[in-house]
Amino acid sequence: QNESTVTITVLGASGDLAKKKIFPALFALYYEDCLPKHFTIFGFARTKMTHAELRTMISKTLTCRIDKRENCDKKMDKFLDRCFYHSGQYDSQEDFAELNRKMREHEGGRVSNRLFYLSIPPNIFTEAVRCASQSASSVNGWTRVIVEKPFGRDSESSAALTKTLKQYLLEDQIFRIDHYLGKELVENLSIMRFSNLIFEPLWSRQYIRNVQLIFSEDFGTEGRGGYFDNYGIIRDIMQNHLLQILALFAMETPVSLDAEDIRNEKVKVLRSMRPLSLEDVVIGQYKSHTKGRTTYPGYTDDTTVPKDSLTPTFAAAALFIDNARWDGVPFLMKAGKALHNKIAEIRVQFRHVPGNLYNRNFGTDLDRATNELVIRVQPDEAIYLKINNKIPGLGMRLDRSYLNLHYAARYSKEIPDAYERLLLDAIEGERRLFIRSDELNAAWSLFTPVLKELEKKKIIPEYYPYGSRGPVGAHYLAARYNVRWGDIGSEQ
Ligand code: NAP
Repeated sequence: QNESTVTITVLGASGDLAKKKIFPALFALYYEDCLPKHFTIFGFARTKMTHAELRTMISKTLTCRIDKRENCDKKMDKFLDRCFYHSGQYDSQEDFAELNRKMREHEGGRVSNRLFYLSIPPNIFTEAVRCASQSASSVNGWTRVIVEKPFGRDSESSAALTKTLKQYLLEDQIFRIDHYLGKELVENLSIMRFSNLIFEPLWSRQYIRNVQLIFSEDFGTEGRGGYFDNYGIIRDIMQNHLLQILALFAMETPVSLDAEDIRNEKVKVLRSMRPLSLEDVVIGQYKSHTKGRTTYPGYTDDTTVPKDSLTPTFAAAALFIDNARWDGVPFLMKAGKALHNKIAEIRVQFRHVPGNLYNRNFGTDLDRATNELVIRVQPDEAIYLKINNKIPGLGMRLDRSYLNLHYAARYSKEIPDAYERLLLDAIEGERRLFIRSDELNAAWSLFTPVLKELEKKKIIPEYYPYGSRGPVGAHYLAARYNVRWGDIGSEQ
């Protein structure tokens, strides 16, 4: 009777995110014995499907880790046996009441904990939350809701969404997911800074010249531009993923590792930042490009995108934190689609060595001789520090070398997907990696004015060829602050 059970309901179970990320992550947790003993998974969507059809659909995307292939098929079958499907409308109290009845059957009188994952378009969040909370909440355990971005499209719509969600949920029931926070190297940022002596003393304007946060994809919207066109790259990547990384990177030492202590520090960073101004932003949009015999489509060639769309598929921005630690240090962000490579990384460029005895060995390009710390979040996770080193032998020739922590070489484990960590945290009630509403407000305050200005003034993006390094404007923007973008992808 007192044993508890967890029921995880994926709303929008027929969709892409559910198939590609959520069900595989739940299976990985099951495989690692991380799910509670008594758990049940429900897929919920409007599409008509039987339990068996759901299971067949899910089974296509489940995988076992390379190092754990033993018993994989058996485990999959056992997992699938615990997955069920319920077809219903997202705004129907009756359909959720029916779901509630089925959940209770599975709970068998145990203490019931319920997690709802909103893997559905944002225009139906509120209705779905209303129905779930009023007709399918737990009566004797917890009820939590994971919300996927977008959390609005500016300060006002985000505040309105929070307000409506809070009609049905308390703040501590809302788990706003930013899957970048679940990435191994993003989580490792705090460990690197706060549990090594050598980084934290350097972590300020005194030693750091600039910080770069870079995200690039080597593909475009490819027929799925409908959602993207309404948001653009600033809302899709910068205002959430890159800004979250920035806040973690720049925050002061939290009082403890408690979720509220960490989130308090992140909010302080965000509130110390200057709202982004139009002069500090460059926007771009990819255009068609022919390479050999292949022609890559431009953004507006995507049939789901309006022909006259000005939506940026690329943006670069310079941001500043007006506090004692970071005064004057440019934090440069760059995010884009259809670029020449696929990468997410943080680059920290350090200042010049004062009175460097070896300056003459570097020729005229002293900037190239400064230390740079690179945290490559994906793919091929790595942390490396560029140092100057003597090339062995007679004479005095210097070389740029690397102190290199390459994850694949150092750790033979496969790195869990971010969704695994975040789902596990939500089940365990760990809120550290989820976004609190005041954090979200502060994040929107930084970007809303410039987003509105871009739209009001109909600023034309700089067009760049598909597969290129993006608009030249990004280089001029960086140069204004004496920054040179790191050589993305061209080095170890
Ligand atoms: P999706 O495939 O477009 O939608 C998920 C499901 O929602 C669909 O299978 C559909 O199920 C239902 N649905 C779609 N449009 C609807 C409408 N107008 N009214 C009512 N129901 C509708 O979305 P997704 O790619 O899985 O993503 C899910 C959510 O995560 C979205 O809110 C998206 O913005 C967000 N997100 C996705 C990603 C990603 O990588 N895919 C990344 C970040 C955020 P039924 O018709 O069967 O009910």
